[in-house]
Amino acid sequence: MNVDLHCHSTMSDGVLEPAVVAARAQANGVDLWALTDHDELAGLAEARQTAESLGMRFVTGVEISVTWAGHTVHIVGLNVDEHNKALNEGLAGIRNGRAIRAHEMADKLESLGIPNSYEGALPYAANPDLISRTHFARFLVQEGYCSKLQEAFDKYLKDGGPAYVPMHWSTLDDAVGWITGAGGRAVIAHPGRYNYTPMQFDALYDHFLNVGGVAIEVMTGSHTPDQYAQYATVARQYGFMASSGSDFHSPREGKLDLGEVPPLPADLKPVWHDWI
Ligand code: AMP
Ligand code: MN
Ligand code: MN
Ligand code: MN
Repeated sequence: MNVDLHCHSTMSDGVLEPAVVAARAQANGVDLWALTDHDELAGLAEARQTAESLGMRFVTGVEISVTWAGHTVHIVGLNVDEHNKALNEGLAGIRNGRAIRAHEMADKLESLGIPNSYEGALPYAANPDLISRTHFARFLVQEGYCSKLQEAFDKYLKDGGPAYVPMHWSTLDDAVGWITGAGGRAVIAHPGRYNYTPMQFDALYDHFLNVGGVAIEVMTGSHTPDQYAQYATVARQYGFMASSGSDFHSPREGKLDLGEVPPLPADLKPVWHDWI
């Protein structure tokens, strides 16, 4: 079975509309699919409608921005009730901070010799509430300041980079609480992307379990094959269920297209085991 439980649409920092992402997933052979826009549920109705019309199983999803020990961690929520009040209110609170931060990023870029980046990034954000670093990165590439998206992050936008503006997103407790309160399962997204020490990782996993988290992404477009093995080991050690997702944003960006995620190691318990 082909499972892809992590990807983005124009409702956050993807370039395809929810219905187009659904159709692409189905065309690529996905059987069980979730849309997981950043901090936003508004694409789910369209995504579900298209998925079901194409005969593809659909799971509601969201990727929540969290600040933990001074760094950003992404928590994917799967199978949530998208009408849950606390979840919707919590996500609205996260979205509120993005416009102010975007202006601060533009100020930093201006001092680095790149004027008007807020105005430049905004047209890339189909949902302006969700203006993100990815939209700035696309502007920097389009204007020739960088040759590709990864370079825009490496040179300017990455955590601690010269145009980075630290954010206080939600807390881990709140994000996991909103997900589980909405009937969903909380998943640590792409653990291989975080710059924590081994001790901090252990503390993160313990904290996540203590507040009700149940799974980690093992197979993701953000991991190398070595990291597939590394986080499979973490899942076994901590008793996490395992998740899989391409983290697809655009046909021209990222490592994996929809449906291209390799299968999970057979001994791991899939986070979707009782949804099929
Ligand atoms: P934001 O939520 O505005 O902080 O933007 C985060 C998004 O930027 C992530 O969801 C990724 O799509 C992208 N991103 C973050 N860090 C990197 C990186 N180092 N390289 C490439 N893309 C990144
Ligand atoms: Mn993204
Ligand atoms: Mn992420
Ligand atoms: Mn993502």
